[in-house]
Amino acid sequence: MERAGAEVAAVGIGCGGPLDSAGGVLIAPLHLPGWTDVPIVDLASAEFGLSAVLDNDATAAAAGEHRFGAGRGTWNMVYLTVSTGVGGGVILDGRVFRGRTGNGGELGHVTVDWRGRLCKGCGRRGCLEAYASGTSIAERAREAGLATETASDVAAAARSGDVVAKRVWDETCEALACGIASLANVFEPERVVIGGGVSREGEQLLGPVREQVRAQAIEPVARSLDVLAAELGDKVGVVGAAAVAFERLL
Ligand SMILES: [Zn+2]
Repeated sequence: MERAGAEVAAVGIGCGGPLDSAGGVLIAPLHLPGWTDVPIVDLASAEFGLSAVLDNDATAAAAGEHRFGAGRGTWNMVYLTVSTGVGGGVILDGRVFRGRTGNGGELGHVTVDWRGRLCKGCGRRGCLEAYASGTSIAERAREAGLATETASDVAAAARSGDVVAKRVWDETCEALACGIASLANVFEPERVVIGGGVSREGEQLLGPVREQVRAQAIEPVARSLDVLAAELGDKVGVVGAAAVAFERLL
């Protein structure tokens, strides 16, 4: 990211968990087989001669949207990425919430149906991720008999009036709204920001979710709550990593 005239002051690293954010160690990231107990912060500091920080990638994305994106100006914000899986992060009283070692804020694994679908991400039943992730949307559509391959296909089929696709899509919005309403009741955020590939469907997703969250969340939580699209798009990974470096080091 270095540009002419810009000086690099620190290294921010966002990575999938589990990891030890405070200790700067990758414990065993699910999508990086073999990266077990890697002291990535020490390695990066030695390599670049700069301070470095490590955070969960979804936490970093939340920090990025809070500092530079759709969450600007808020004190309390929930960020959700709805993608292959569902992840997220929380800003509380102006600060990034991490939990003890940086693995808190696993918002995709809040339960929306405790006897529900098996969650491949964590092994429990009825997680938000088991309904609202792109993977699950496509899977539920196939189970319902549709020939669609991706969540985006399902969204397109629903738009063109396919009744089964519309049912699958409506269920997706309901699950997402159910999870977000619970999170809203817990954190009373001013804003819920939704990013990730599935959020590219825009108001087809956000419209019903916003309406249902406002109807379900307890007053006065619901009254001032907005649900909107993330702004950083594909850059959220790198901007998020920079945001946590700003927050913790600069
Ligand atoms: Zn789960």
